[in-house]
Amino acid sequence: MPLAWIDTHAHLDDERFHGDLAAVLERAVQAGLQRIVVVATTAIDSPNCVTLAAKHPLLRATVGIQPNNIAEESPTAWDEVVALAQRSEVVALGETGLDRYWDRTPFAQQEDYFARHLELARKIDRAVVIHCREAEADVVRMLRAGFDNHGPVRAVMHSFTGDLATAQACVQMGLYISFAGMLTYKNAQALRDVAAKMPLERVLVETDCPYLAPVPNRGKRNEPAYVVHTGAVLAQTLGVPLDVIAEHTTRNARALFGI
Ligand SMILES: [Zn+2]
Repeated sequence: MPLAWIDTHAHLDDERFHGDLAAVLERAVQAGLQRIVVVATTAIDSPNCVTLAAKHPLLRATVGIQPNNIAEESPTAWDEVVALAQRSEVVALGETGLDRYWDRTPFAQQEDYFARHLELARKIDRAVVIHCREAEADVVRMLRAGFDNHGPVRAVMHSFTGDLATAQACVQMGLYISFAGMLTYKNAQALRDVAAKMPLERVLVETDCPYLAPVPNRGKRNEPAYVVHTGAVLAQTLGVPLDVIAEHTTRNARALFGI
């Protein structure tokens, strides 16, 4: 029996999986994956993620609008997300968050939508998947405001690349920190130094596939089965056996998403 894993962030609705999704899911099962969270980035792909999750028992879905996509959305996009959010396949809202790297959506509008996702998640008891790029202080500020007013929210900082202070601030507010393939890259020692200080009770692994495959598959199309490689580096980084990382990340993912 392989160790049990959960890929907490996969874009399986991406067209790069259209031709061979069944084989991708079969390899995931062989690799020990027990669940895969299929993450939406637009109002258009949100229903596709829900449909995938309804079809495959291995899959659960999120619905939401990624900050860089907000500006291109139709006026009814948010209502479409809200209408889907309480479907039984939907375990989280997102990915949402803030992004100062790409300049595609005015920042105030990103903040507005991030706040909407957080508020809806509290209202309908779903988790939140948070994207953060070069906006760590702003994300922490908004999370802190919510935390001070309403207490902890179930949420994950997905594909974390921030610094230790950001990670610790998020952990203190009860969030999870999810590591993706970048953790395995040779030039990512600063990220591994952050991961090394994270409590086992708060770490998750993800692929963010089809992007940024972990070593030894770097450069290839990423897929959920490869999450094991990120798990292995996380185990080395934290100085614990592989089965301990598999057990904790799987348990953490189940608690976060209620899966
Ligand atoms: Zn993503």
